[in-house]
Amino acid sequence: MFIGHYALGFAAKRLAPRTSLGTLFVAPTLADLLWPIFLLLGIEHAHVVPGPNPFLTLWLDDYPYSHSLFALIVWGALFGFLYKTKRGDGRAALVIGLLVVSHWVLDFVTHRPDIQLYPGGAKLGLGLWNSPAATVIVETVMLIAGVVIYLRASGARDAIGRWGLWGLVVVLAASYYSTLFTASPTDIRALAIGGLFFEAVFVLVAWWVDRHRNVTSNRPAPL
Ligand SMILES: [Zn+2]
Repeated sequence: MFIGHYALGFAAKRLAPRTSLGTLFVAPTLADLLWPIFLLLGIEHAHVVPGPNPFLTLWLDDYPYSHSLFALIVWGALFGFLYKTKRGDGRAALVIGLLVVSHWVLDFVTHRPDIQLYPGGAKLGLGLWNSPAATVIVETVMLIAGVVIYLRASGARDAIGRWGLWGLVVVLAASYYSTLFTASPTDIRALAIGGLFFEAVFVLVAWWVDRHRNVTSNRPAPL
């Protein structure tokens, strides 16, 4: 899954209003931020097989440290702990931890059987990606819902807060839809570097835009 992860980041603003959208983007996409690094280090492995379904060209041979449920619980606990230590907001730390783990749930639904509960475990996946149309519909609905929740939870303080947000949403959506029509690079290292670059840019822009918006209520929604 791609924009569905960001959708959860947007929506989480309602649960953790004092937390930057940048942080709320890092948490659900942490697995995909770690994956290119582990791949480039040779710890995890993948290869590209060109085919008609753009979601299925990337074969993830093994990626237990970035994507197994066990690993994501550990990463989520670590991220949540660091956030709690730095900001003292235990509730937001819990939301962050859950967002990190949510990545596994969404990828379990979308991937073909290649994702594990723990390193060395059986490979699982419900394979939503087998239907590009269903995948696009699910992710689009999620993104719209996430943005609507974020819009209700925060208001623009200036032009950057207003138009920057829409710019971010448009670029996120465009980068997603464009992958449907462009051939994915066959060089796995180029794919990893490109992915990491764009994910980092999305986080930075989200952090920047969020600084130009006010939360509508400091009272978070009940968990
Ligand atoms: Zn992933």
